[in-house]
Amino acid sequence: CFACELEGDDRDVVTTNISCERCHAIFETAPKLLAHIAAHILHDPTISREDEPCGLCLSPAPSCRIGLKKYKASFTLDYTNSMCQRLVKFSYATASQPSPTNLCANVPIKCPQCPKGSNTVWKYNIAFHYAKNHSPSVPPSEFDISDFELEGLKMVWNNRH
Ligand SMILES: [Zn+2]
Ligand SMILES: [Zn+2]
Ligand SMILES: [Zn+2]
Repeated sequence: CFACELEGDDRDVVTTNISCERCHAIFETAPKLLAHIAAHILHDPTISREDEPCGLCLSPAPSCRIGLKKYKASFTLDYTNSMCQRLVKFSYATASQPSPTNLCANVPIKCPQCPKGSNTVWKYNIAFHYAKNHSPSVPPSEFDISDFELEGLKMVWNNRH
């Protein structure tokens, strides 16, 4: 089954033709899709960030679910407990670290304020998630989006076609 195929270690695999559900651009690797979708979330005026759009399929938060499980010092995606129409296998450890080759660090995270077992929140949505659910608390600074990511994804957005 799909979930079993995806199960395994925390690794990027070359996926074939994953497309953006919004503009139908096609990507060969999950990190490229993640960066493109993140660019939609940050820079596309037609995307409502209050809806906490999914970093893979752009669906509003409650209609999509990504599970996480502990893996080494970090996490890996829990594919059997995820329901996302664009679910692809990617390395959580790599995707969560912005670098010159990976401008995007939008990954699902566990909200420190939500009860255990709650749905994960995409990192780029955490500020909106806090404003809506945990005000006046603000997210820990480790969840801030760096200028490096904002600038990089602005370029991804401007060069998308
Ligand atoms: Zn797109
Ligand atoms: Zn999704
Ligand atoms: Zn929360």
